[in-house]
Amino acid sequence: MEIALIAHDKKKDDMIRFVTAYQDIFAQHRLYATGTTGKRINEETNLPVIRFQSGPYGGDQEIGALIANNKLDMVIFFRDPLTAQPHEPDVTALIRLCDVYSVPLATNMGTAEVLVRGLEKGDLQWRSIIRGETRHE
Ligand code: PGA
Repeated sequence: MEIALIAHDKKKDDMIRFVTAYQDIFAQHRLYATGTTGKRINEETNLPVIRFQSGPYGGDQEIGALIANNKLDMVIFFRDPLTAQPHEPDVTALIRLCDVYSVPLATNMGTAEVLVRGLEKGDLQWRSIIRGETRHE
């Protein structure tokens, strides 16, 4: 599966803890991330991560473009709900695209746990059926 990982600054430590806890599962999938999140995940877990720009510099939009092309199967996005973000419109757009394409999205660790355990059990196999099939003219 193709999985995007994004964490706002105050949530990055949580993201590292989360990815470390489920490292064995994440190692079986392809990981994508915004710039700083991806750098930290790679440095602290050694997992390979395909990195985009940092979020405020367009990284969320780059990940959104993957979703719009049905190339992502899951998004784990630890947002910071207590801090204003300069790229809030991009954050909203990314979440919206997940809903447009029915891409499973976790915006906090509680939901992320459920998604990753479901991933391990094979609950997301339906994604491989629809991935790449949708073409909206
Ligand atoms: P970052 O971007 O991983 O480069 O910090 C995340 C974000 O702020 O959306």
